[in-house]
Amino acid sequence: MSNLISGSCLCGEVTFSLTNDFSRFYLCHCTQCQKMTGSAHVAHLFTAPDNLSWTSGETSLKRFEHPSRSFTKVFCTECGSGLPFVNKSGKALIVPAGSLNAEPNIQPSHNIFWHERASWYDKGITAKHCAGFPE
Ligand SMILES: [Zn+2]
Ligand SMILES: [Zn+2]
Repeated sequence: MSNLISGSCLCGEVTFSLTNDFSRFYLCHCTQCQKMTGSAHVAHLFTAPDNLSWTSGETSLKRFEHPSRSFTKVFCTECGSGLPFVNKSGKALIVPAGSLNAEPNIQPSHNIFWHERASWYDKGITAKHCAGFPE
């Protein structure tokens, strides 16, 4: 039985597919993840390191490794979107949830490095909801 899920970057240059079989889903609020995303947190799904097929654009990938710490980002050189990568230890494939084109098989279980969260995060999640830009 096939249970494939696809994903891509924003510009569509890079596409991939994998089995929708994730074991962990964390939102990381650490200050490094805030820098990497330019936003409040990363949303990372974990699966087996060999659970990935690039279907296009593999030559447009760039990998950044922090020189002294275990922070990695793989991104499209055209649009900068975060994309899946095997972590430094080689034990897990980490997939940014927003790169997927459909629902993952699991929901987030933990907000990690919660004490480092952005000072504006708590207010942000209770701010007014609008369908588009505010009037
Ligand atoms: Zn792209
Ligand atoms: Zn982090």
